[in-house]
Amino acid sequence: MQLPSDQNSSGRTLGAEEIQLLTEAINSGTLTSTKGTFVKALEKEFAEMFGVKYAYACASGSAAVHTAVAAIDPEPGDEIITTSVTDMGALAPILYQSAVPVFADIDPVTWNVTAETIEKCISSRTKAIMVTHLFGNPCEMDKIMALAKAHNIPVIEDTAQAFLATHRDQIVGTIGDIGCYSMQQGKHITTGEGGIVVTNNEALARRMYLFINKAWGYGDPKPDHYFLAPNYRLTELQGAVASAQLPKLKGVVEKRRQLANNLTSQLQGLSGVTPPHHETHNTHVYWKYCLSVDAAVIPDGAVGLAKWLKENRGIFSAPRYIQKPAFCCEIFRDQRTFGNSRFPFSVARPEAVDYDKTKFPGTYDGLERVLVLPWNEGYTQEHVDYIAQSIKDEIAALQ
Ligand SMILES: *Cc1c(COP(=O)(O)O)cnc(C)c1O
Repeated sequence: MQLPSDQNSSGRTLGAEEIQLLTEAINSGTLTSTKGTFVKALEKEFAEMFGVKYAYACASGSAAVHTAVAAIDPEPGDEIITTSVTDMGALAPILYQSAVPVFADIDPVTWNVTAETIEKCISSRTKAIMVTHLFGNPCEMDKIMALAKAHNIPVIEDTAQAFLATHRDQIVGTIGDIGCYSMQQGKHITTGEGGIVVTNNEALARRMYLFINKAWGYGDPKPDHYFLAPNYRLTELQGAVASAQLPKLKGVVEKRRQLANNLTSQLQGLSGVTPPHHETHNTHVYWKYCLSVDAAVIPDGAVGLAKWLKENRGIFSAPRYIQKPAFCCEIFRDQRTFGNSRFPFSVARPEAVDYDKTKFPGTYDGLERVLVLPWNEGYTQEHVDYIAQSIKDEIAALQ
């Protein structure tokens, strides 16, 4: 059985609505957002849907994170606490803005950072905390915000995987100071590449708008390039597609949740695999569906189950998600940044760049257990039954 995939039309919601708006954008002859109407409309619609004052579109999720970090404006060598299990797009922007990522350990059950793991990383140089709501499951934001407020540290939420997920009835991405979204091919809604930043803070909004636009003061009485900034604009073509995708988002999220709840109910109580856990005061939006696999029951754990599913049922899954903790990538291990300077690692506190294994028990345990199943709003009941039955068959085969 072939499962719908987010890498092509079988698992994407792209269709007549997108073509209609795209045609209008092309016929307008204006493809830059500085002069056109589509990106502006998208920003307005996004802000309304998410209940925030400001939303700005940009070139990618990585660009969104970069824009957020730039708005916080760290001094060289300042620290930003982040997670050891996330996309590189959440980490590289910290280095580009001359700040040092400090990795907090994760909870091996939810694969998210927690207030406790973040607290251990706070120093006099901490400039911001950046959380990733991994796989679409919200972090415990009430505790994280209380910690951040006590230390007067701003919070950036990387919401690339968690569109419309909620924590205690608040939409994640709108709880901290800035939220960052991605519209890359495999995210809940897509323009191929694309990103959005949101905030309720006027000063941060102004800096983010400028950062996306080469820091040029459009509309000011005496505009200038006020500070160092790239061109991170989304085109009108992408804006048009995003405007057609946005009204479909609630349906996508609802469908993914329904299907995931169905699979969870079918897998409940099986020995060897635990369905994804989320707190009852949160809603999980299932960018992916992650099983926790017990290697004491299933030989070779997540790797063994993935191999079995692929070879026997044609189901492709990703054991260990990003394979290894982010700090084990060469960029961090060998400190490869700008020429041979190693900057900003060269000005970091030694403890901030100490990636000793003993500091990350949750990370190693969590990555060892996680099996990431692709998840999609285009699945039918048959697809979900097939996945459930395949996992049950593998476990039964072991008895
Ligand atoms: C996808 C993703 C990013 C990066 O987004 P791009 O649009 O690919 O640049 C950042 N953080 C997380 C958690 C992601 O999943």
